[in-house]
Amino acid sequence: MPARRALVVGGSLGGLLAANLLRSKGWDVTVFERNAEDLTGRGAGLSTHPQLLDILHRIGIDFDESMGVKLDRFICLDASGRVYREEKTSRLMTSWGRLYRALRAPLPAESYRLAMALAKIEQDAAGVTAIFATGERFEGDLLVAADGVRSTVREQFLGDVELHYAGYVAWRAMLDESEIPPAIRQEIFERYVFCLPEGELFLAYPVPGRNNETRAGERAYNIVWYRPTDPKTLADLCTDATGKYHGSAIPPPLIRPDVTAAIKATARELVAPQVAEIFVRTPQPFFQPIFDMESPRTVFGRVVLVGDAAFVARPHVGAGVTKAALESASLAEAASTRDLAAGLLRFEQEQVPFGRGLVALARQEGAYLSAQLKPREQRTAAELKWDVDHVLLAHNSRTERLREVLHAARSAAAQP
Ligand SMILES: Cc1cc2nc3c(=O)[nH]c(=O)nc-3n(C[C@H](O)[C@H](O)[C@H](O)COP(=O)(O)OP(=O)(O)OC[C@H]3O[C@@H](n4cnc5c(N)ncnc54)[C@H](O)[C@@H]3O)c2cc1C
Repeated sequence: MPARRALVVGGSLGGLLAANLLRSKGWDVTVFERNAEDLTGRGAGLSTHPQLLDILHRIGIDFDESMGVKLDRFICLDASGRVYREEKTSRLMTSWGRLYRALRAPLPAESYRLAMALAKIEQDAAGVTAIFATGERFEGDLLVAADGVRSTVREQFLGDVELHYAGYVAWRAMLDESEIPPAIRQEIFERYVFCLPEGELFLAYPVPGRNNETRAGERAYNIVWYRPTDPKTLADLCTDATGKYHGSAIPPPLIRPDVTAAIKATARELVAPQVAEIFVRTPQPFFQPIFDMESPRTVFGRVVLVGDAAFVARPHVGAGVTKAALESASLAEAASTRDLAAGLLRFEQEQVPFGRGLVALARQEGAYLSAQLKPREQRTAAELKWDVDHVLLAHNSRTERLREVLHAARSAAAQP
């Protein structure tokens, strides 16, 4: 049988995982990314799960010490900087850029096309055609939409699916290891740090550095700080210095200087001085509003949604990329059968409950943060349940919970 052709829309981690996994099953794959520039420079830390490492291994990427930073202890710091809890953990932290580089490397250069913004899709019984803003048209047997939370493809097939703002944002900062004062580096760098200011959650951990280096001295420290933020304040944060409103996603360089100065001052006020110092030294912290999103369907003929285009779970399970990997692995398996339509149907039957289950799990973890926008007396018992034990238990059991959600989805899909 000649190689079947897959068109993958979106050249970020979800798209690259799908492309590599389909190639491993003999598909001829081309990835189309709307950005004109290579994405390597996107900087953010990522936590991993063993399920992701297994799938990377399957496509020939071994998660060795060049890929990430291993952590074996976490500490909780109070606002004065005192360690009030320290325990063993086992976490592998990587970075968006390091994973991108590893997943991009196996693809031939001509199979990864930049500056290709998908405009629309046409399909019939014989195939699917992707039509780009440039006017170019590409034909294939399968189109995988890995075009993210604001997916153009999902918009075409499921125009009424909404993103639900969770009522809080994640402020993010990343500082080179070499920029961290030595005493702070010595004390916390190789630790996963938790701070719990009232109503908020602040996490910090080391990740590969700017050039994706994992050698001591060349790594970076990554911060994710969840802060309840009402929609009016969010709209103000997303308005630039000229008064232009950028929807819910303002590019980091356009965040107003007064917004940056205010969040840095708040860091000094609310979180442990060691991590506040790292946050304040980061030239441009940025924020991401947290959303939930569920697609009722993910397969439309020869078109399939994966990654954030299909489901967005809040980041508390740290599994967005692992979810994209699991979905892509299952898609590659399903699509390699002779009867593509039947394979895709089986794929959807597992993917939908898996996505829903993860969204529900992460929503449960973030319930306390969302509830901060309500008066205390209106919060449910679950929304009030929040202390360091609860946070650490949820954190330490996330891989197990992910496994349970996957298992439940697979069992549901196997029902006749
Ligand atoms: C605060 C925060 C922390 C997180 N932490 C973690 C973590 O620790 N671990 C983890 O696994 N996950 C984490 N995640 C989730 C993770 O970042 C996402 O789930 C993952 O990046 C989704 O990847 P994706 O490829 O599906 O989408 P995206 O990364 O959004 O990629 C979509 C791509 O499609 C392109 N595109 C869009 N439209 C078009 C078009 N019309 N034509 C062509 N290309 C197009 C875009 O330019 C983009 O490159 C976190 C998320 C947040 C918000």
